[in-house]
Amino acid sequence: MTEQQKARRLIKVAQDFLKERYELQGHHIIVAAALLTKSGHIYKGLHIGTTQPSVATCAEIATIGIALASEKNMQIDMIVAVRDPEAYIISPCGKCREYIADYGPDAQVIVPLEADSGWEIVPISSLLPLKYKKRTQSGQIGICECKS
Ligand SMILES: [Zn+2]
Repeated sequence: MTEQQKARRLIKVAQDFLKERYELQGHHIIVAAALLTKSGHIYKGLHIGTTQPSVATCAEIATIGIALASEKNMQIDMIVAVRDPEAYIISPCGKCREYIADYGPDAQVIVPLEADSGWEIVPISSLLPLKYKKRTQSGQIGICECKS
């Protein structure tokens, strides 16, 4: 399966999931994400909205949590998020870029094109250049404060 084929499949999973949940749960569901792991499994998740918008959780992060709970040594291969009402592809926010890079250092991210309604596949490193890294006492570079 080519990268384009994987991307089309993942986009469809996210769009179908958003449409299904949007109709069932109404306007509280505004974003869905789908991610493919290196092991070949697809997980899907939803934006977790609250009455306090500043504590809402992005769909990408919720989906990463589901994948982490389901797979030991989970690594993201590819990820996409779509937004209501037309389930158009959105680019991950800064917080999501950090999560994606930590759990998929070479992950591919499906993002919308600037010029039209198309999309492209880009490496997370291009969305988050010079990512924060923590140097441990042994001199190794850790990927996340909470893992050291
Ligand atoms: Zn986000």
